[in-house]
Amino acid sequence: MERTHRTVHWFRKGLRLHDNEALYHAVTTSQVVFPIYIVDVSWQKEKEKFSAIKTRFLIDCLKDLDEGLKKCGTRLYVLTGDATQVIKKFCKENEITQMTWMKDAEIFYRERDEEITKVVHRMEIKTKSFLGHTLYDPDEVIAKNGGKIPLTMEEFYETINDMEQPGAPCPTVTAKHFKNCLPRAVENHDSLYGIPKIAAWGHSAPRSLTIYKGGERQALKVLKAKMADSTLFTLNGFNQGVKTKLPHTTYLSPYQNYGCISTRFFWKSAEKLPAEKTIILRGQMIYREFFYVAASQVNNFTKMTGNRICRQIDWYENADHLKAWKEGKTGLKNGPKFSPVSLVMRQLVTEGFIHHINRWAVASFLTNGQLWLNWEHGQQMFEEHQIDGDYAMNAGCWMWCTGSAFKEKISESTLDPVKFARRWDPEGHFTRKYCPELKNMPLKYLFCPWEAPENTQRHARVQVGIDYPAPIVDYKKTRSQNLEQIRKINLSESISAQ
Ligand SMILES: Cc1cc2nc3c(=O)[nH]c(=O)nc-3n(C[C@H](O)[C@H](O)[C@H](O)COP(=O)(O)OP(=O)(O)OC[C@H]3O[C@@H](n4cnc5c(N)ncnc54)[C@H](O)[C@@H]3O)c2cc1C
Repeated sequence: MERTHRTVHWFRKGLRLHDNEALYHAVTTSQVVFPIYIVDVSWQKEKEKFSAIKTRFLIDCLKDLDEGLKKCGTRLYVLTGDATQVIKKFCKENEITQMTWMKDAEIFYRERDEEITKVVHRMEIKTKSFLGHTLYDPDEVIAKNGGKIPLTMEEFYETINDMEQPGAPCPTVTAKHFKNCLPRAVENHDSLYGIPKIAAWGHSAPRSLTIYKGGERQALKVLKAKMADSTLFTLNGFNQGVKTKLPHTTYLSPYQNYGCISTRFFWKSAEKLPAEKTIILRGQMIYREFFYVAASQVNNFTKMTGNRICRQIDWYENADHLKAWKEGKTGLKNGPKFSPVSLVMRQLVTEGFIHHINRWAVASFLTNGQLWLNWEHGQQMFEEHQIDGDYAMNAGCWMWCTGSAFKEKISESTLDPVKFARRWDPEGHFTRKYCPELKNMPLKYLFCPWEAPENTQRHARVQVGIDYPAPIVDYKKTRSQNLEQIRKINLSESISAQ
């Protein structure tokens, strides 16, 4: 292929060298390739909700990418400022003729890309973008479904079953590819184009320590280990170092979120698992596709109001309850808590990742399970604190588990927090780790310490109401009240549909 172009490859998500079709295109069609990343702080804060813990994970990913590019003989050029202005300036200074990137699905990314495409086209720069964050192109899925968003999993499967299966990953970009398109090395690269410290995003180093390290190499290492782990998707593994009955999963979503791992490569790797586990894993991955397709077209996807697929529910307003839910992790003596929900919230804020089943538990508790508060509050908290916090997936899952969208009726099966904890943490290791003030509480009362006789509380050196706050709601009562509300909504909808 003739190498005619001077190309900028713009890394946004897709922070990887393997299966990166846009980068591969750049290095095979160009006489010079500048790999860039743009720190556009206000945009990232507003649209991508980069909290300190997420930003630190991102910085790991960028450092790892820079290391990978060093091995190819080049570096990552980190530019700072408004993306459109930065690109215009860089392209002009470096006589760029082509720009490449991996496409994103969400509306706000697409709007930004359209704006930037117009600007660079006016500069006679060609643009080439490739699908890379999802297995299926959301536009193609919708076109295949007659121009409609598939809003149930059945409809989604019917649609994709008629489409081409995800293709094979493209070759990893290496030094061999970069050999003929290296930009001239810049002597003071680190001061001009180095990866900024966390303060550049307006954060101080997070107080909490995520146990997850970002980056492509780490992602591939985790993937390899998980594909060889016989405890994957069983109840016998350790989750985040703690023995529970929670199904042992891959923990790859943070890496998928930043594109350190290619979804197509992940999909392909699932073949290495025993057949029944390939089906489980791919089934999960299809949920991700489902939410991405919806988020690509629905305005206000992260909100109830103005969101055309979201059921409008008359949620309560209760600032104290919301605060209590959010602050499950705070001060041992003065933060209202409700085991086991509180301990999960502590884990969220300190580690930036919680197990799917625990996400569901705290989501249910906040909304139709217990507190009957709007899911938007939860989605905001999750999007900010989860290192895999993702616009499409997070809002999609919140709507899914509250029955706000994608379902004909709201489910009547709501969470009983005590039974829940007994089922998933039968030996109490998880609860004792994240609620250390309950560490001496006998298992019988561990998940409902307020029921422990005074004597038992004294022996366990924890007094409910003093060392461990009393429940904020009577969970049996609220559950049955909420069930009534759910039945009313379901009934009124079925009457109005007739
Ligand atoms: C309230 C709530 C909010 C959520 N917010 C997010 C979010 O912001 N980002 C995010 O990536 N996931 C989110 N999830 C989905 C799910 O919890 C995570 O994807 C999963 O826990 C990640 O762990 P894993 O990589 O070990 O998953 P695995 O079970 O190993 O699954 C492999 C991959 O499949 C996808 N996946 C798994 N479960 C789901 C699911 N239920 N829906 C859609 N895709 C799934 C993920 O990409 C995941 O990496 C949320 C779930 C709930 C209930």
